[in-house]
Amino acid sequence: MEKKNIDWSNLGFGYVRTDKRYVSNYKNGAWDEGVLTEDSDIVLNECACVLQYAQTIFEGLKAYTTEQGRIVAFRPDLNAERMESSAKRLEMPVFPRERFVEAITRVVAANTAYVPPYGSGATLYLRPYMFGSNSVIGVKPAAEYQFRVFCTPVGPYFKGGAKPLTIRVSDFDRAAPHGTGNIKAGLNYAMSLHAIVSAHEEGYDENMYLDPGTRSRVEETGGANFLFVTKDGGVVTPKSDSILPSITRRSLVYVAKEYLGLKVEEREVLLSEVEDFAECGLCGTAAVISPVGKIVDHGREICLPSGMDEMGPVTRKLYDTLTGIQMGRIEAPEGWIHVIE
Ligand SMILES: *Cc1c(COP(=O)(O)O)cnc(C)c1O
Repeated sequence: MEKKNIDWSNLGFGYVRTDKRYVSNYKNGAWDEGVLTEDSDIVLNECACVLQYAQTIFEGLKAYTTEQGRIVAFRPDLNAERMESSAKRLEMPVFPRERFVEAITRVVAANTAYVPPYGSGATLYLRPYMFGSNSVIGVKPAAEYQFRVFCTPVGPYFKGGAKPLTIRVSDFDRAAPHGTGNIKAGLNYAMSLHAIVSAHEEGYDENMYLDPGTRSRVEETGGANFLFVTKDGGVVTPKSDSILPSITRRSLVYVAKEYLGLKVEEREVLLSEVEDFAECGLCGTAAVISPVGKIVDHGREICLPSGMDEMGPVTRKLYDTLTGIQMGRIEAPEGWIHVIE
């Protein structure tokens, strides 16, 4: 398919309407067969459960063109699996995993004109989501649901190189113990909006959230998991039941161990030990790893030795190896690359 006339390298991270999206509806206890449609609008009753009680979950992943010219998606089976646990936690029906992967495949295949070319740095971002669609006024789960997948081309995350971020320790909490921090639900983002807007107003790029119970352990940011590098070159990543299990972070842990031979610890990380680390990064689909240069804890500055100019050397190696695997320059572990065409 002929590519759209888009300036790929200068695309931002925003919504661009593409040709087709996938829709399946759940009614009377079953999912319908699902269709690709050109209609990008959703018409809902004013009392739809999602509008009143925020019964909605989502996923995010990317498709892109490899060095070999194939269009692929990265580990969509893990997004299907994670969406299943999100659905269960919010009393929503599960959209079957094989059908999830099939929906991703169909949406990408129907929008290949929007898949950025290899080397542009841009990718096709996919957004699967599901919400309670019928009217509900007394608090209970919806009886009807809609599952959708749309895609939008997004630009290179780091234009002109990855500039390390400055983040602050937040006074707001992200996720309660035994709450919903470990699922990908819109509700976790609604309550993070005030925290991120005020962080930006004060000149910070992101919030570091601590565990609400003791405010002593590092959890994550609003939309990315932490990965730290110790002074002797090992990798440490926080472990907590209220962290969202990032697929990027899990992939980087595998890469660190199996490709780079690094020692990896997944454990509780105290805020008080962060000053001893050599490097810090934020992991998520959007950027893979964003380096953090400075963490500010109520006026106390923790400056990572990797500095404010570039990624630290271990972060860089992790980033290059995982993006190399994704782009087909380095051999991928079995099952990581889902070929679409
Ligand atoms: C989506 C998300 C991440 C990153 O997960 P990936 O699967 O790597 O994209 C991290 N934290 C939160 C809170 C998220 O919602």
